[in-house]
Amino acid sequence: MAPNSLNQWQEYVKSLTIEGRAFINGEYVSAQSGKTFACINPANSEEIAQVAECDEADAELAVSAAKQCFDQGTWRNLAPKKRKQVLLRLAELMLEHRTELAALETLDMGKPISESYNVDVPSAAETVKWHAEAIDKIYDEVAPTEANVLATITREPIGVVAAITPWNFPLAIASWKIAPALAAGNSVVLKPSEKSSLTAIRLAQLASEAGLPDGALNVVPGYGHTVGKTLALHMQVDCLAFTGSTRIARQLMIYAGESNMKRVWLEAGGKNPNIVFADCADLDKAARSAASGCFYNQGEVCVAATRLLVERSIHDEFVQKVREASQHFRPGDPLDPDTNMGALVDKQHQGSVLEYINKGQQGGAKLTLGGNAALDTDKGAFVEPTIFTGVDNSMPIAREEIFGPVMSVIPFDDEQHAIAIANDSDYGLGAALWTNSLSRAHKLSRELRAGSVWINNYNDGDMTVPFGGFKQSGNGRDKSLHALEKYTELKTTWIELD
Ligand code: NAD
Repeated sequence: MAPNSLNQWQEYVKSLTIEGRAFINGEYVSAQSGKTFACINPANSEEIAQVAECDEADAELAVSAAKQCFDQGTWRNLAPKKRKQVLLRLAELMLEHRTELAALETLDMGKPISESYNVDVPSAAETVKWHAEAIDKIYDEVAPTEANVLATITREPIGVVAAITPWNFPLAIASWKIAPALAAGNSVVLKPSEKSSLTAIRLAQLASEAGLPDGALNVVPGYGHTVGKTLALHMQVDCLAFTGSTRIARQLMIYAGESNMKRVWLEAGGKNPNIVFADCADLDKAARSAASGCFYNQGEVCVAATRLLVERSIHDEFVQKVREASQHFRPGDPLDPDTNMGALVDKQHQGSVLEYINKGQQGGAKLTLGGNAALDTDKGAFVEPTIFTGVDNSMPIAREEIFGPVMSVIPFDDEQHAIAIANDSDYGLGAALWTNSLSRAHKLSRELRAGSVWINNYNDGDMTVPFGGFKQSGNGRDKSLHALEKYTELKTTWIELD
């Protein structure tokens, strides 16, 4: 049974043996250089583990193992139903190790244990299971040619996929990449964020235990500018699947152009508008959703509802409701099952978020809630839920991704004004509309330049629906069968029958 109190979780984590080595060609290995870096718990600044600091040499080994596995066909040529069985076993193992994976995630990046345990780990296992179940139900095509020709259109794995992932949902986002990539028959080299490598390292070993052949999944922890860059420039990496900031996403496109034109799939940042009209039928629900949409996961969410656009006639009343709903989010010890807001990923990021809050005040926005570091300010990276009103969409707090618990409230006058503000952003990841008018909902959802639009909810989703962005929020889609498009090449085979 999983621990169910702070005390029990504290005792449990003391009993954990934490693996920090890379996983290459079916086994744990230290970095070639022997170097490691400290993995720090952001809730108390204590060291959790030493993690292998992989560099160019380790990336070479991992790519070579992945390529060998691909070329030999040990994974790619396995019948889809057999690949399915291995991945289904992996999903089972993830759930069998749910307590351990949840504890690693929380220790590593500060998110509340209730979320790691109830959301992140089960949803990552579901991702693996969903793609496993899909892969032997997808058929190829026969083109409608003349009778003396047979032209088939088939999907084939691309080859070696390098997956480079961020720290905010380490296991869940790694699963969004590796599950469809592996299901389609590719070999994968996963480089987790240097700020949260532990669950990826553990996942590789579970995959091996599930029956994945050596070299099919390798994990190389380390820094982006060394091991990440080597993977992105590597001539034998055929596809880069990235989630992270727009700044690094742009850089990866350059690396692909400078090397072998590898396929590049990017899931990047967001500055998402949450638009509330006066005709919204349930303002209390909208207010609760505005608060959770912005403060869930400490605001470290690409699709966080960071720009709250409110029709002017209900502005003051609605802001008051959002303030009240936000009281629900109180920073606390991430290992306490009652905590719903943990620590930010590290002290450096806490400093960056506080700097934005300072900028917001200097720029003339009105601090309406929070605005400070919380709890143990020396050792923990906690920040209060923070709301600014009187924000103009040209201010840095409305334009730049803060990636912390900071909401900017912007009033609007009518539909056109709302859409103009919403679309006035470099990003286009998510957007929401709250209205009781069906025609307004339909009409405006088409006007919003975003990959996901929610009507009368915020950030609902499911494995069956694709997720990704317009504009500088990226390209390609994670989740759903569309994710498989990223990890397969389309081949036509033309056969003369005469
Ligand atoms: P980041 O861009 O700093 O790092 C992401 C990954 O890229 C890390 O593994 C990092 O080591 C690596 N990296 C850094 N420099 C590199 C280089 N030169 N070459 C190769 N790899 C390099 O992002 P982050 O701070 O880890 O994560 C937060 C960002 O992720 C936010 O912008 C957030 O919006 C975005 N995000 C997007 C989605 C989405 O689905 N669109 C989901 C979650 C997070």
